[in-house]
Amino acid sequence: MRKKVTVVGAGNVGATLVQRIAETELADVVMVDVMEGVPQGKGLDLMQSGPVLGYDSKITGTNRYDETAGSDIIVITAGLARKPGMSRDDLLAANGDIVHTVAKETGRHSPGAFMIVVTNPMDVMAYVAMKACGFPKERVVGMGGVLDSARFRTFIAMELGVSIENTHAFVLGGHGDTMVPLPRYSSVAGIPITELMSADTINKLIERTRNGGAEIVALLKTGSAYYAPAAAALEMVEAVLLDKKKILPCSAYLDGEYGVKGMFSGVPVKLGAKGVEQVVEIKLNPDEKAAFMRSVDAVRQGCAKFM
Ligand code: NAD
Repeated sequence: MRKKVTVVGAGNVGATLVQRIAETELADVVMVDVMEGVPQGKGLDLMQSGPVLGYDSKITGTNRYDETAGSDIIVITAGLARKPGMSRDDLLAANGDIVHTVAKETGRHSPGAFMIVVTNPMDVMAYVAMKACGFPKERVVGMGGVLDSARFRTFIAMELGVSIENTHAFVLGGHGDTMVPLPRYSSVAGIPITELMSADTINKLIERTRNGGAEIVALLKTGSAYYAPAAAALEMVEAVLLDKKKILPCSAYLDGEYGVKGMFSGVPVKLGAKGVEQVVEIKLNPDEKAAFMRSVDAVRQGCAKFM
């Protein structure tokens, strides 16, 4: 039987993710949105790309949650996106209500699913979603680190003029201004970037990574990035559906790991068929640990409004 993925939010990130899932034939997809006609129209449009591109994935656009029943994965992209001058936290109250409703409804119809939260401020929204759907901690994560790492990798490859295939990068902490890119664990063909670039250059790339989302918001003016966010979510969907046991930076519920209890933050996790199969703990030096804790505190402040 084919796998089933529900994507809530048929906007820029949601619809692009549906397109990528369909093109890779990973699963059939149900796309839900509150806008009448939008998911249905985009769904039909994507179905009609199938004959040209050669995919058989079935795409259903709907405004109803009963059609999502029995999903293997639920991806939440519903909510407002940033406009120029807005931080991710400005979205907190409005998106909190939306994510609460969406997680509760989708969770009720697919109680065995794995949930990926994309809506910003993502780490706080992952917390809201987990409380609303009641899933165990292994089955709710937030997407942020894969995107932040991809941005860091892009800038490393651009700076050194090397293939992105040679690059590897790690970004820990919350998906926000306090994210913690880790140069020590970032490499090109296995060589730490600290051996290949000056500290000044690395700091510039880190700053650009931190502002990676805002840089695109400022250019687009009417919305935020969606091609790379959709690609990042796809990598997580694939890791679970294909039981790849891939180590990816995801926002996971920490239950003592890294000295943090009861909070979501970006850490390396092993993603497989069971969801978060392991939170991988890496040694942080005192500066990295302090930056990570600052980031966790920022997420904790956001979550306080929903406790
Ligand atoms: P968008 O405005 O293009 O799409 C959002 C969609 O959500 C709209 O179609 C809207 O109708 C729908 N929606 C609103 N309320 C809903 C509800 N109650 N139920 C179902 N659908 C509802 O925005 P986008 O660019 O796709 O971004 C979506 C979210 O993802 C934003 O919060 C954005 O900040 C976030 N985002 C996160 C990351 C990340 O790395 N975690 C990256 C990019 C975007």
